[in-house]
Amino acid sequence: MDREKLERDLAALPLYQYAFLDTAEIPFSENVRHICETECPMYNTTWACPPAVGTVAECKARCLRWPRALLLVTVAEVEDAADMEQTLPTRQAHEDITRQAADLVETASGHGVYVLSTESCAICAHCAWPDAPCRHPDRMYPCVESHGILVTALAERCGIDFLYSSNVVLWFSLIFYSDQAETAAGLPETAQRKE
Ligand code: SF4
Repeated sequence: MDREKLERDLAALPLYQYAFLDTAEIPFSENVRHICETECPMYNTTWACPPAVGTVAECKARCLRWPRALLLVTVAEVEDAADMEQTLPTRQAHEDITRQAADLVETASGHGVYVLSTESCAICAHCAWPDAPCRHPDRMYPCVESHGILVTALAERCGIDFLYSSNVVLWFSLIFYSDQAETAAGLPETAQRKE
């Protein structure tokens, strides 16, 4: 994979910071899943969230099939970052950037990618879960936390600079990929085709 070219292409995107990492560095925790179950209103409402994404062990195994990942961070400014009515509308720009970055990584690696992004999927007005299959499995990105990933711990491990401000929102995505042909041979061909 031509990482220098990929980094030149990534530089054209409005990213705050990014980091390349080995997927073995990613911290998974059942505690994150517990928060999904007990505190998130999106739990059990979409294909992008638990329980549809599988157990944490299944999610971890799915992620670790890819040896490498790119952690992406974008930043948005709002008046009050604690106000979800202000922060959520800034999410779409991050999703668009994630999609562009995923295309760049997929082109650079020559193989598929597996993408995790923010919050729950909002592509359809009403998710097909649980009555019918996901309508857009190739475009649907589960959120990072849905897989039990401790995103702040990962970001710290990767040297991401946190902006401690009441008017700043940081959004995170993970793009899993393989830069090894022999490993990639056993991976799914397209982004979100999981098995
Ligand atoms: S693409 Fe539609 S059906 Fe699939 S997870 Fe998103 S909202 Fe649900």
